[in-house]
Amino acid sequence: MSEIIVIGAGMAGLTCAGELARAGHSVTILDKGRGPGGRMAARRAEIAGETVSFDHGAQYFTARDPAFQRRIAEWQEQGVVERWTAAEKADGDAAWVGVPGMNGPIRAMAQDLDVRWGVRAEALTRTTGWFVDAGTDSFEADILLVCVPAEQASELLEPCSPDFGAIAGSVTSEPCWAVMAAFAQKIGLDADTVRMPDAPISWAARNSAKPHRTGSETWVLHASPQKSREIIDMPQEEAASHLVEVFFDQMGIERSVPIHSAAHRWLYAMPASLNGESAHYDAEAKIGIAGDYLHSPRVEGAFLSGQALASKVLRTP
Ligand SMILES: Cc1cc2nc3c(=O)[nH]c(=O)nc-3n(C[C@H](O)[C@H](O)[C@H](O)COP(=O)(O)OP(=O)(O)OC[C@H]3O[C@@H](n4cnc5c(N)ncnc54)[C@H](O)[C@@H]3O)c2cc1C
Repeated sequence: MSEIIVIGAGMAGLTCAGELARAGHSVTILDKGRGPGGRMAARRAEIAGETVSFDHGAQYFTARDPAFQRRIAEWQEQGVVERWTAAEKADGDAAWVGVPGMNGPIRAMAQDLDVRWGVRAEALTRTTGWFVDAGTDSFEADILLVCVPAEQASELLEPCSPDFGAIAGSVTSEPCWAVMAAFAQKIGLDADTVRMPDAPISWAARNSAKPHRTGSETWVLHASPQKSREIIDMPQEEAASHLVEVFFDQMGIERSVPIHSAAHRWLYAMPASLNGESAHYDAEAKIGIAGDYLHSPRVEGAFLSGQALASKVLRTP
């Protein structure tokens, strides 16, 4: 059985790590984030004496592949996902959200594994095994699996695994400014979701209408890639109030002043995904890559890529 390090505790990394740990390997996962989420993050805020959680990254997920459908059924049994019909298109797939926040399934997966939060991998070197320099910490293992967004993977991999660095480096991701806003009263929109791909705010959701959310009237707004690029360097507070105004104007409804607003800039929100293998593993150098960019820019794509990487490692003698 091998010592394995997985960099990145998002859906791809944890799916892969879980399968390898279940097969008996000793797996350590490193993540620079302070807690579980990755791009399925939930952010808490104190608003009017109440703790409110916003899903500012992925909004919901769908499942077409039977393996992901089975995984969702397990999460449903664990009570960490629920269906959110408001996000479903008339003839579309079932939409699921994590509960009590979007990171529910990520938290559940991480609980059973050895995840080191707040650890950023800075440099990777191969000697007899793999060595991960993480600033004040360092880690060694036989096998190294890199499950981080394409641009970050490319930076880490170029010096030590040029081929995989080039694969990740060939991907460009779109940015997304996300706004988390709370209002004292219900705003003048009946629908809980707004999907307008060509508008400056391409997605908006009444976050408080998702299952098990607290807070009276909270919204998450996502600016389109084009709008996000236009204001990419805007300070966060300014971006938050600007995008709230844009939203009310776009929807043609009376403006309400939020009692709380914050913005988060996802620089690498949505990758252009590559056609090809869902994951790559070099059995000789004992290094592999997985992530949504190798399958499809969705939670399901990250899951399937993580699973594909674990299968490749397990198939190697
Ligand atoms: C704004 C937004 C909206 C979205 N909406 C949807 C949606 O509605 N439906 C849907 O299905 N998908 C959506 N997605 C996409 C979905 O969130 C992703 O496809 C999926 O979560 C990617 O998982 P991942 O494991 O590949 O990457 P990530 O979730 O990004 O995980 C990678 C992890 O690596 C860590 N990391 C990075 N670099 C390092 C390092 N050097 N050292 C240590 N750790 C590191 C990060 O902290 C992170 O936790 C959305 C994404 C965003 C940002």
